[in-house]
Amino acid sequence: AKEKGRNNYQFYTPLLNSRTLDRLKLEYDLRLALDLGQFELHYQPQIDATKQQLYGAEALIRWRHPERGLVPPNDFIPLAEEIGLIIPIGGWVIAEAARQITRWQAEGHKQMVVSVNISALQFHQPGFLSEVQAIMDAAGAQPQSLELELTESMLMSDMDASIHELQLFRDLGYRIAIDDFGTGFSCLNYLRRLPVNILKIDQSFVRDMQSDEASLAIVSYIIRLAQSLGMDTIAEGVETSNEMTLLVNEGCRLMQGYHFSKALPPAQFDAWLAQWSAR
Ligand code: C2E
Ligand code: CA
Ligand code: CA
Ligand code: CA
Repeated sequence: AKEKGRNNYQFYTPLLNSRTLDRLKLEYDLRLALDLGQFELHYQPQIDATKQQLYGAEALIRWRHPERGLVPPNDFIPLAEEIGLIIPIGGWVIAEAARQITRWQAEGHKQMVVSVNISALQFHQPGFLSEVQAIMDAAGAQPQSLELELTESMLMSDMDASIHELQLFRDLGYRIAIDDFGTGFSCLNYLRRLPVNILKIDQSFVRDMQSDEASLAIVSYIIRLAQSLGMDTIAEGVETSNEMTLLVNEGCRLMQGYHFSKALPPAQFDAWLAQWSAR
């Protein structure tokens, strides 16, 4: 029996190498995480820098894993997309954000907008709009308080259907932002047809704009483009007051980044906001 066991072991080793096992374990854990309540939303403040006032918050998911600790989204969202789990996880994100919107409303933050990241699979799912509506109704939250962050590439795969779907969201009062704007080699002609409120200037351009003239030119161009299309811009990854000042001078009103705060759990967000408002 011992000898047979050893042979079996040798036989299976090359198939179940440690990377395969690691991924299988991660996938197994991920399938349980929703039922075990291991996901959390952290919120990063979004600031109107011209008024020095809060605009809203971006909801960013984290996975509190019993052994791995707090797992960042880049370590599990791609896998969740690959195996289709992003549909229920993404639904939970919207529901949790909707509940947080009503909590903040009750605390008097009436104008606050919460933005959520939407995956391509989620957006193109039939019935997505009615699901969002049902979730918002159940929480008692207004569409004006929710902003959907989409990427250029997921809209370009099927332009006409995307424009139609976005128009339905807009008609109901939802806000739409294009995330990581400038990184998708967007065809400019499509922008003018898209019912979008906000372009989010990708953080790579913000990071490099003081050392690299091309990045500054792109930042400046996106701001002017948005202005002429009647859209707003929000700069991501603002880490210093110099970057903030430069962006304000370029005409960018909204921004988020470590200069203001990283993403925080709701209780810490409220404490941050109280302190920042009293500064
Ligand atoms: P993203 O939507 O582009 O989010 C911005 C990322 O930059 C966040 O990382 C944020 O914490 C980080 N960040 C914010 N300010 C600064 C700054 O000043 N400097 C630098 N260097 N980074 C900053 P995070 O939370 O790890 O999220 C990574 C990505 O995961 C997100 O990129 C988004 O694509 C995805 N993601 C997060 N939450 C969700 C979700 O609920 N659903 C889906 N589908 N994707 C999500
Ligand atoms: Ca985002
Ligand atoms: Ca982004
Ligand atoms: Ca991104």
